[in-house]
Parts: sequence; C-alpha cells; structure tokens
Amino acid sequence: METVFSKIIEGTIPSKKVFENERILAFYDIEPAAPVHVLIIPKKFIASMNDVTPEDLPLIAEIHSVAQQIAAELGIADSGYRLINNCGPDSGQAVPHLHYHLLGGAKLGALTGNSASHA
Ligand code: 5GP
Repeated sequence: METVFSKIIEGTIPSKKVFENERILAFYDIEPAAPVHVLIIPKKFIASMNDVTPEDLPLIAEIHSVAQQIAAELGIADSGYRLINNCGPDSGQAVPHLHYHLLGGAKLGALTGNSASHA
C-alpha cells in the first residue's frame, strides 16, 4: 500500500534520516511533539500493530534495538524517552504503515489526553 511513509522509504518524499539499514528507517517527525521526535518504521509494509505476524517478531525486536541506539546517539538515553505505537482509529493512527514514535528531550506530559477508566 502506498502511503507517505512508503514514499519516504522510496525517497520521493524527503526526510531527515537518523538511521537506515536494509529493514528499518528512522527519521525526524515533520511535526515534532517533543524536542526529540523520531519515527522508526519497517521498510516492509505492515499496516498496523494488528497486522504483525509471528514472522515479523525479529523485525519488531530490531526496531526496539534501533530505538535504544538512537536514544543513546541523540543523548536522551539517561534523561528518558517514550516509544509509542498508535494502532487504529482510537489511537489516532494517521498513517497506515506501522511506525513507532521515539519521544524525549523534555519532561513528557500525561500518557493520553483523555481521562481513563477501568469501569
Ligand atoms: P500517527 O498519528 O499515525 O501515529 O503518526 C504519524 C506521524 O507521521 C505524525 O506524527 C506526523 O507528524 C508524521 N508525518 C506525517 N507525514 C509526514 C511526512 O511527510 N514527513 C515526516 N517526517 N513525518 C510525517
């Protein structure tokens, strides 16, 4: 499926890359929600977390390893950061290509903008 992220992978939409290998690309978010806001995506098309299969799990693990590496390189490993995946409409997922937000560089706000309930 063609999305803004597949175009970034192809290079037809420019991005400010922070990491790339054969399987994974990481680049700065165009609308940063924190002083450090990097998107980490698999080059393989996976629409969302719901579409991750058991064979994708090494790729998901590698994304975590890449997030750890980028956090260290960008100087936020010790101050702390969040690695967030939005999946589906309630999460606000806007781009239907699996991606993780790496956010840090400042004290981050509440985890969600909504009041929560387990009732
Ligand atoms: P979502 O809401 O789907 O979890 O996050 C999608 C993210 O992609 C948003 O934070 C948005 O700012 C970012 N984004 C959308 N289009 C572009 C783009 O063309 N370039 C970059 N670098 N980020 C984008």
